[in-house]
Amino acid sequence: MPALTPRFDQFSHRHIGPSAEETQAMLATIGVASLEELIDQTVPDSIRLREPLQVDPAISEYYYLQHLQGMAQRNKVFRSFMGMGYHGTITPSVILRNLFCNPGWYTQYTPYQAEIAQGRLESLLNFQTMVSDLTAMPVANASLLDEGTAAAEAMTMFYAYRNKRAKSDPANVFLVSDQVLPQTLAVLRTRAEPLEIEIRVSPVADFDLDKDRVFGVLLQYPGANGQIEDYREVVERAKAADITVTVAADLLALTLLTPPGEWGADAVVGNTQRFGVPMGFGGPHAAYFAVQDTYKRLIPGRIIGVSQDRHGHTALRMALQTREQHIRREKATSNICTAQALLANMAAMYACYHGAEGLTAIAKRTHHFTVILADTLREAGFTLPAEHYFDTLHIDTSPERVARIRQRAETEGYNFFYPREGGIRISFDETVATTDLQAVCRIFEATLNYGGAELTGDGGVTGIDTHIAPALRRTSTFLTHPNFTSYRTETQLMRYLKRLENKDLSLMHSMIPLGSCTMKLNAATELIPVSWPEFANIHPFAPIEQAQGYKQLFQELERDLAEITGFTACSLQPNSGASGEYAGLLVIRAYHLNRNEGHRNVAIIPESAHGTNPASAVMAGMQVVVVKSDEAGNVDIDDLRAKTEEHRDKLAALMITYPSTYGVFETGVVEMCELVHSHGGLVYMDGANMNAQVGLTSPGLIGADVCHLNLHKTFAIPHGGGGPGMGPICCNEKLAPFLPSHPLQDTGGQKATSAVASAPWGSASILLISYAYIKMLGASGLRQASEYAILNANYIKARIEEQYDVLFTGENGRAAHELILDLRPFKSVMSASDLAKRLIDYGFHAPTLSWPVAGTVMIEPTESESKDELDRFCDALLAIREEADAVARGDVDTEDNVLLNAPHTIAELTADDWSHPYSREQAAYPLPYLRQGFKFWPSVARVDNGYGDRNFVCTCPPIEAYV
Ligand SMILES: *Cc1c(COP(=O)(O)O)cnc(C)c1O
Repeated sequence: MPALTPRFDQFSHRHIGPSAEETQAMLATIGVASLEELIDQTVPDSIRLREPLQVDPAISEYYYLQHLQGMAQRNKVFRSFMGMGYHGTITPSVILRNLFCNPGWYTQYTPYQAEIAQGRLESLLNFQTMVSDLTAMPVANASLLDEGTAAAEAMTMFYAYRNKRAKSDPANVFLVSDQVLPQTLAVLRTRAEPLEIEIRVSPVADFDLDKDRVFGVLLQYPGANGQIEDYREVVERAKAADITVTVAADLLALTLLTPPGEWGADAVVGNTQRFGVPMGFGGPHAAYFAVQDTYKRLIPGRIIGVSQDRHGHTALRMALQTREQHIRREKATSNICTAQALLANMAAMYACYHGAEGLTAIAKRTHHFTVILADTLREAGFTLPAEHYFDTLHIDTSPERVARIRQRAETEGYNFFYPREGGIRISFDETVATTDLQAVCRIFEATLNYGGAELTGDGGVTGIDTHIAPALRRTSTFLTHPNFTSYRTETQLMRYLKRLENKDLSLMHSMIPLGSCTMKLNAATELIPVSWPEFANIHPFAPIEQAQGYKQLFQELERDLAEITGFTACSLQPNSGASGEYAGLLVIRAYHLNRNEGHRNVAIIPESAHGTNPASAVMAGMQVVVVKSDEAGNVDIDDLRAKTEEHRDKLAALMITYPSTYGVFETGVVEMCELVHSHGGLVYMDGANMNAQVGLTSPGLIGADVCHLNLHKTFAIPHGGGGPGMGPICCNEKLAPFLPSHPLQDTGGQKATSAVASAPWGSASILLISYAYIKMLGASGLRQASEYAILNANYIKARIEEQYDVLFTGENGRAAHELILDLRPFKSVMSASDLAKRLIDYGFHAPTLSWPVAGTVMIEPTESESKDELDRFCDALLAIREEADAVARGDVDTEDNVLLNAPHTIAELTADDWSHPYSREQAAYPLPYLRQGFKFWPSVARVDNGYGDRNFVCTCPPIEAYV
């Protein structure tokens, strides 16, 4: 048995929960002699990996950080005034330390259990309010992945909206301003093509607003060239023709500009990166998405809304069923699931800290520095076409001069943006200093002269005029809610952050046993380098010569992920699992097209699949055919055979999850792959369950052609309360040529599909976390992680299976790395939701609720939990079973009991009147361990979802509402 006989500095010893002695005890409970025996009984022999993974041997945490310092030094941090949607920004230290670097903020799960998530829910509501105020739109969501995909979501949302009745001859033209960011345009083209949406790019003045053909337009505000145009006239004409208007807008600019909501936009999208979130060579940062009220039920992603708890107190929760269980499968127009919650929280806190005056001052200062540069360059004889601009200047000059300036700039450590069509672009940001101004002038051989002007108290520079046209200056107020006016000192903001953090259960409190979501340890050493300036402050479009440390990271990680998945190639671009699914299916589509088999468009997907699978398939232009599961939870091979036969001429792909979402290592999986291949289809594997595969088997070995990996599940990136994530895809040689490219960096295969995300390597900076995970575990640690994930799940199963029915197990009665408990037998006394809420009283976060089977919970403990934690969790489950039995026996009130009233708040327990037939002690301290420091208090009682949907509010309620 590969028992843990660790060296003191071995990371696997810190990452994996059970000690050697605990392992023995757990094996005994399960009834096997060794971990090997358990794995042999769990993972089918036919798909076992025979060789160790070919990854570097494990290195200790200490040496890893030294290694990383070396890599960091290979990145050259230039001053990047490149703009194009990414800007220098100053992360307030109070936010960096107390939020970004704080596991109390970054290890939470998506806020499904609202009662123990009020902190991040409030912060995300601040985010929505911030976006809503700045754009002047009534409804905003709680973040999307990036600006490009947000624009694409708007496009497909309006396409579906416009054509929901007129299927036969849809209006399928989307007009895009030629001033839209190039990466946004690339993502739009990618998304448009499979859906047969036609994109027409032109200057806005040339838009042909054909009422019958055009369903929407996209404007950029200010344009990529920096110019601010007045779009009112074109918006009016679009409205008259029933054409929707989406505006991609810069939030900082909107502090000074008339917001799109005031001139008729139907949707406003963009990025919030420059609100205190480092560029990170591409991410992660939170995109935003705001719409008019008409579209609130069509909005992709999650919306936080205001509701009430059981006692009528204000409480927040995710509104309008914007939860992944409700992704509308093959009827979906979006597959967005994981988004950018943590970064949305950072941006929101940046707005809380600066408030309207602070943000305006930052904008004004940035603008005035830009004006000074523009005046200086004009004086020096350069041509700057724009009269109205905010922070970005386009300088027209000859290619020879561009080359000379570029060379000088790079020698001085400055990056500007050099568009393909010629000229130079410079975007200033809040980090710009007088020394930068001087340096830029020097580079342009211009003499800086601004008459000794000085900074004024409101952020402006004396004697400098604004270059924003009077008609487009903002007059409306914003961020007037007390959450944006009350936290101006560090003490205040630090306490606000702590107050919210305290309301949320995170991995700092107890295990979060979420089936399919793999809430394992996010080790501090893995995370520390993410905030190092050498990784944080690099612009995603900086020349790759300046990012050699990143390049090394990408090369090694691509190689290791390909090795782990049994494939040969990898794309790091997709920035969520669902984005990876989409990218993988596009690659399959491109493969068929390349072989002149474009008619292959059927994707076969098991009914047990995650909702994003069919949604991604539809987005990739595929037709979804559902295959049944048998009673044991396996894909029904006969049905699969029938479906592949029936669709053999049009078969594009089978999309499967392995082990299945029922937590079963299906033995028929190889046969399934062969069947699909024999009919000319390819196999896509959803890698969400890789935590049961790494080092034991692999998608490539099993016979799949491409898979995605949720790095925020299996590879230790924290969940962030709903994002960030990363969803790279790995594939075999057949598909490698089609891996996605990017318009501004060289990446992707020889016959690459176009970009699926705004940034070339997705949220590049958090790749460091997965890189660290692999380097510090090495081949044997990685395999052990999978083995212990399986051990922990089977230990829970062994401890509770007499009291709860475990659905679907493998042929030898073993669970994989997760297990499903059937709660339907308790239906009359306890719903799955009652169990989830009662677990809060026991100090635990609920498992995955009612997915993939209604009326069940799916538990995934991960390898990081130790035996004592698993025991507490099992004790809680067993105690709840007894509570349910007491109700069933009629020993306690069926209407007023601990299950129905859970969770219990301090306010309720300490109130003068207590009318329940059970004791306060039974409510709050049902097991002794809770008195030993494991009690977690919910900040509100059970939240009423329906109330909030009937009275929909998605911006901060007045403080008085919190009673
Ligand atoms: C989490 C998950 C996804 C989606 O991943 P995101 O990163 O949230 O987009 C897809 N499939 C399965 C089985 C999952 O568990």
